[in-house]
Amino acid sequence: MGPIPVAEIFYSIQGEGSLVGRPALFIRFGGCNLRCVWCDTVSVWRRAMPHSIEELIRKVEKFAGRDIDIVFTGGEPLLHRRWIEKLIQEFDDGFLIYQIETNGTIPPGDFLSGREDVFFNVSPKLSNSAMPAERRVVPEVLHTLSRMARRKRAIFKFVVLDRRDVEEAMETFIEPFSIPRHAIYLMPLSNSREEFIERSPQVVQLCKEFGFSFSPRLQLVIWNRRTGV
Ligand code: SF4
Repeated sequence: MGPIPVAEIFYSIQGEGSLVGRPALFIRFGGCNLRCVWCDTVSVWRRAMPHSIEELIRKVEKFAGRDIDIVFTGGEPLLHRRWIEKLIQEFDDGFLIYQIETNGTIPPGDFLSGREDVFFNVSPKLSNSAMPAERRVVPEVLHTLSRMARRKRAIFKFVVLDRRDVEEAMETFIEPFSIPRHAIYLMPLSNSREEFIERSPQVVQLCKEFGFSFSPRLQLVIWNRRTGV
């Protein structure tokens, strides 16, 4: 295994999904297997610098034992699954929950699926990402992650603009892969605080109608477009 591309490491709170508000150390890896047209972190993860495992452990260890989570994000962190496994083995119960933010196209593997303290924030991409379906819909991975959601170890977040997007999520992901309703979150497509606030009421309405949960994007509301805070 060569060096690990790491774009940023920062201590903050989880801004999205079911674990929103929890204090967490974020490790943002470089590289992604998709190129979503509205990706809001591409300029950050493209600037990743190579780290050795020792260097990474040194940076993370001062946060261990503080009753906080780790969020592995990207890019697509599961491209670096072996490194994530190594870090979890190294720190074991030094962190409360090991959260993994993934686009749902890369298998999580037995080690990560088997640990009860690993939680998956899955964000499958709709056609509004402008990525071809065969790259964003990988059935065997979605079946695995849906099983994890039934065991309350994963949630699925869909970035939506309107009803058409929700219907597409139903047809492409939720029904074919039997994703449980309690694990589904809708998040407004937005790249700024203003867009998020403007589009939220319509998405809340869709959540009420379909019986899904609403996911905030606290980082946008609090810091607008800044990352690493
Ligand atoms: S999967 Fe995520 S990180 Fe990758 S291009 Fe799409 S939005 Fe960006």
